[in-house]
Amino acid sequence: MPDTLDRYLEQHGDRFTSELRELCAIPSEATDAGALDAAARWCGERLVSAGAESRELRVDGAPALVVGEVGAGKRTLICVQHYDVQPAVPLDLWRSPPYDPAVRDGAVFARGVDDNKGHLLLRIQAVEAYRAIHGDLPLHVRFLIEGEEESGSTNLARLLALDATLTDGDGALKEGGAIDAAGRPQLLLGGKGIFYVELRVRSMARDAHSGAATHLPNAAWRLVTALDTLVDRGGRILIDGFYDDVRPPTEAERAHLASLPFEADVIKRLYGIDAFAWGRSDVEARLASVYEPTCNICGLISGFIEEGTKTVIPSEASVKIDFRLVPEQDPARIGTLLRAHLDRRGFGDVELVAKEGTRPYRGRIDDPLVRAAQAVAEEEIGTPALLIPSSGGTSPMWQVCGKRSLANVTLGMGHPGSGAHAPNENILLANYWKALRATVALFRRYADQV
Ligand SMILES: [Zn+2]
Repeated sequence: MPDTLDRYLEQHGDRFTSELRELCAIPSEATDAGALDAAARWCGERLVSAGAESRELRVDGAPALVVGEVGAGKRTLICVQHYDVQPAVPLDLWRSPPYDPAVRDGAVFARGVDDNKGHLLLRIQAVEAYRAIHGDLPLHVRFLIEGEEESGSTNLARLLALDATLTDGDGALKEGGAIDAAGRPQLLLGGKGIFYVELRVRSMARDAHSGAATHLPNAAWRLVTALDTLVDRGGRILIDGFYDDVRPPTEAERAHLASLPFEADVIKRLYGIDAFAWGRSDVEARLASVYEPTCNICGLISGFIEEGTKTVIPSEASVKIDFRLVPEQDPARIGTLLRAHLDRRGFGDVELVAKEGTRPYRGRIDDPLVRAAQAVAEEEIGTPALLIPSSGGTSPMWQVCGKRSLANVTLGMGHPGSGAHAPNENILLANYWKALRATVALFRRYADQV
């Protein structure tokens, strides 16, 4: 039996890497039910070979929730992960096929390798390594690995309701996590919620000659006029009651955030901009990225958008919008407020098609789990570890942590060029081993941490 983690990774590192390629070769996109099943089965079998008990929970019309249980102790760590991936399209932008994982220059390229298959696998491998080196885990670890995260975790609440004990625990290790350009681990302690909605206008039965623009209603104008009522020039959302449930940051929370490094110049250079949107200063942008909700236009469609000219009055227009929400906003209530806002301003004809909603969740900073994760991140990854109260993105932590107000944290290995959700998604193997080592260390540290 190997006596150190170094030795164990020397002996088993190649197998661990080929397991990563095997899992990433399964094209588990939302539209491929067979691949989702295969990925769920793969995760269940890998949990068992790491020494865990595993089962699949199912509700109609949803991919399985894979549950793994291993170890015993006075604490339970819930490990919230997902095996589904974002679509790989457009394929022609990939340097190697997204589901034929390739290793180049110390990086592994594949759809899902960062978000979230690399993270979920290294956590299972950490269980295996811990048990091989030290024996039984000093705490209870419960894996909840869902297959619908990239499409809004629509059925997660129903799946969790099948067994009320699934969310009993002391803290949650959430998906993802990253190491910044300077090598500092970024520990995210929450995520924004989301309300995704499509607005549709149909202004008349058919398109018309634009000579009649004097008197026939144009759907595009109608839609942009409605959109213009939603946000002011400073980015403040104008929907009546929109901010009623927002819990503003405390002075201590604002001071903590201001103390964190914020690479404003790096971001501006990357996107080729001179200033942030909505007239926000660097400090305001930093605060807003964590504490402000957003109303974002994802895409607009109307009328003639091909080469050349066509003088036409479009009869249809539509827009897709995502609202990122902050505690304690509720996506269902935002939908109700949006409907009332449009009706009150005479836009009763604008149809709303709500797509998905997830509540925001921000866990405590002052918690043994966060202290333990910070300590092992600084020992195994880099220093200082940055405690970031919320991601700008969304993960389903409210469903898992909300009932007991559990702390949640990432301890991951993504890097600024990971390309999650984009072509050529990749991870750096050097970061992979660091995060795996940190996870092995976390089991002991969290079991003992006060
Ligand atoms: Zn993810």
